[in-house]
This record gives sequence, structure tokens and C-alpha cells, in this order.
Amino acid sequence: MTKPQVTLFWFRRDLRLEDNCSLYHALQEENPVQPIFIFDTQILEELPKKDARVEFIHQEITRLQNEISAHGGTLDVRMGNPIEIWKSLINDYDVKAVWANRDYEPYARERDKEVYDFLNERGIEFKAKKDHVIFEKDEIVKDNGDPYVVFTPYSKLWKKSLLEEHITSCKSENYSNWSRSEAREIPSLKELGFEPTEIEFPSRELDEKVVGKYDETRDLPAVKGTSRMSLHLRFGTVSIRSLVKRANTLNEKYLNELIWRDFYQAILWHFPQVIDSNFNKKYDDIKWRNNEEEFEKWKQGKTGYPVVDAGMRELNQTGFMHNRVRMIVASFLTKHLLIDWRWGEAYFAEKLFDFELASNNGGWQWAAGTGVDAQPYFRIFNPYSQTDKFDKDRKYINRWIPEIDTKYYPNPIIDHKAARERCLEVYKTALS
Ligand code: FAD
Repeated sequence: MTKPQVTLFWFRRDLRLEDNCSLYHALQEENPVQPIFIFDTQILEELPKKDARVEFIHQEITRLQNEISAHGGTLDVRMGNPIEIWKSLINDYDVKAVWANRDYEPYARERDKEVYDFLNERGIEFKAKKDHVIFEKDEIVKDNGDPYVVFTPYSKLWKKSLLEEHITSCKSENYSNWSRSEAREIPSLKELGFEPTEIEFPSRELDEKVVGKYDETRDLPAVKGTSRMSLHLRFGTVSIRSLVKRANTLNEKYLNELIWRDFYQAILWHFPQVIDSNFNKKYDDIKWRNNEEEFEKWKQGKTGYPVVDAGMRELNQTGFMHNRVRMIVASFLTKHLLIDWRWGEAYFAEKLFDFELASNNGGWQWAAGTGVDAQPYFRIFNPYSQTDKFDKDRKYINRWIPEIDTKYYPNPIIDHKAARERCLEVYKTALS
């Protein structure tokens, strides 16, 4: 049987048919497009059996399958080690070209290099475009070509450089040059080795009313005052261009947060070593206490600091935590308890449904004071005054800690003032 001549399009963190840059280019090639998705067993094997991210991906590729079938095509979903899957793909199809959107994480870069070399040796071109961010790599750098490591000048140049073309939709939805083939089954969640979670995912629709008032409500964890777009940006179920376009007219503070996301992606691109070491080497001598019992209490939301515990319980039960509270719990772990930021980062990576390596690493190193443009080490969040400022009616705390006013709620794990002094001492010693 002759193999079908196709252009393969590889979905990764861009799970949408509309405004998808590389898909737009793939669909304009001469050969019809066969879309593929690979469940990477090297990643799946590391995950707990109940994992909201896998469930979300499964839900979204099922949606994609339905959308592609409406055009007479079918998504080819496979599971395994990507390079092995590529060996079988080139056997099954007469592959004329491959398209994907760029991914900036170190693991993905290595994987893509391996696939690129493999295809290249066989005379198949592997082409990739920017899609996940507005500006990538060296697009926003200092005059001398060095990357920015401070947010404000980066964001100023980002805004100055933004042209209509950067936020114009890649109209992939206008083309339908899909390869026609028999419908294929997607493996069920169970066949992938996972169970459903009870986690509810936020809607893909941007709530423009919320974003319009973002500057007033974004720091209040008890209200729906942020966009909840992080999951969709992570997996590309919403396009960053469409959000920036709306942010531009709706709320500048909101736009700034989207720029933070680009900033951390650029940091990860330029300094991949941040994934397991301090960006700022000055802090390499910090003597973390790393008390396992205290770490366990922090994870379970039993530190006796209500806002910290409420945040950790929100995370454990929903896979999400409000940004203000992420900052508070991260500061508490690294500064009050002197536990290495890498421990907290790993716990967030396991639990957050919007886990994004670049932003998570950036957020943790910011809180610990070790990162780019970080919170100075001597600025230690006081969980009580943070509560007075951002949850003054205790609505958020009461929602997550039903036993708050009973004898079952623990006493504080450590006194705030003593913890603060200890932290200052340890950081000062490390810097001396
Ligand atoms: P909104 O406030 O509505 O913001 C809109 C979008 O802007 C977000 O969806 C996100 O894509 C981006 N954004 C907002 N704040 C930041 C920020 N500080 N850094 C980078 N991008 C930002 N965000 C993640 O997407 N994944 C993570 O794994 C992650 N880990 C974090 C860990 C720590 C310790 C901290 C302090 C922050 C972390 N953040 C992370 C950033 C931020 O907390 C979340 O993006 C935000 O809470 C998601 O909610 P939202 O979509 O309603 O955000």
C-alpha cells in the first residue's frame, strides 16, 4: 500500500486550531496536513496517577479531534518516547515536512534537537515558528546584546517594540488542507494509566469585566479578580496574541503580567541553568535548614499561619493558588522556615495545574531573593499584615480553613519576629 504523502503538524503546548502560527504555515503547504500528538512517557512516568494536567490535555485533544474530524481529518495520537514515535511515524507516512511551534524549556529544546537531527538525516525539514510568546530569544535585549535581567527596562522596550504584526492573529482557522483519513481512537485516560481528578478547569473565555478592573482586584484572593488564563496559556488553548490585544485596551496592569510571562520565558532561554541553581550566585552559601517535618506541615497547610495554610489547601484541593498567596507561601517557606526554594518549586510543579517551568522558577527565585529582579532578601513578608491588607474580612481564610477558630487549628509553627531575625542572620552570613 502506498503511504500517504503528508506534512506532519506536531501539537505540543499549542492545543488549538485557531491563531496557531506554525499550523497556519503547515496548512499552506502543498501536501495535506496530518496532525499528531505524542503523550511523552518520559514525562508521564514521573507524574502521580491522578494528575489534572494529563486530564486537561486529554480533554483538549479530544476537543481538537472533534474539530479536525469536522474537516475530514483525524488527529494521530501516540504514546511513547518521542524519538521512538518519530521512527514509527516516518514508517507510516511519506513525510514531506514537519511543523511545530517553538518550545523554550531545556528538556523540549533537547528533544527537538534530537528530532531535528533524526529528520534532517532523512532529508525531512523540521520547521518551527514562534507562537507561545510575543517576543522570544534575542528580540528584546539591551543595546549591547545582553539579555535584560531587570523587569522594568525589559517591559519598557517590550512595549516600545510591540507592533500590530506581533498581535495579529495567525489565521490558521481559515485553512483546511487536512489529510483525509479514517478516524483514529484517542487512548482513554485509563489506557494512559491515569484516573480522573475532581478538579474543575477555568473557562477559555476571557472575562473582560474582571480584566477591566484588574488593577483594583488582582491582589484580593477572596474575589474572582484575576483572569484564570494561566492554564490556557500554558497549554496553548488560548493564544497569547489574542490576550495581549485585549489587554492593550482593557487594562495596563494586566498587560504587565503578560509581559512578566514573556520575561521569565526569556530568562529561561538565556539562562537555562536557573532550573536547578540560584540565578544570583551570591546566594549559593545560604545554609537552608530544610526541616522535613516543617516542610510536611507547610505542604499540608498546617503551619498555624492562616493565610499560608489557606493557600496550601487551595492548591491541594483545586490545583490553583492565587498569585498574592503564592508569593506569601513561597516567602514563608524560604524565609520563615529557611527551606530551599527548590523544594517548594518542586511541590508547586507537582500540584499546580498551570505549572509552567519558566514562571514557577521565576516566582520561587523572586520570593527567595535569589533570582532576577528578585524581592530583596531583607524584605520578608509578614503573613499577618499581608492578611490585613488583602484579606481583611478573612473571607479567603475562612473558605479554606473551616476549623480556623477551634482547638483543632494548630499554633504557629514559629514566631514571626524570631523567624524574621533568624532569616536575616542566615542571609547576611551567606553574603559575607
Ligand atoms: P492573572 O493575574 O490574570 O494574570 C494573567 C496571566 O499573566 C497569567 O495567566 C500568567 O500567564 C501571567 N502572569 C501573571 N502573573 C505572572 C507572574 N508573576 N509571572 C509570570 N507570569 C505571570 N504562573 C504560571 O503560569 N505557572 C506557574 O507555575 C507559576 N508559578 C508561580 C510560583 C510562584 C512562587 C509565584 C509567586 C508565581 C507563580 N506564577 C506562575 C505566576 C502567577 O502566580 C500565575 O500566573 C497566576 O496566579 C495565574 O492566575 P491568573 O491566570 O488568574 O493570572
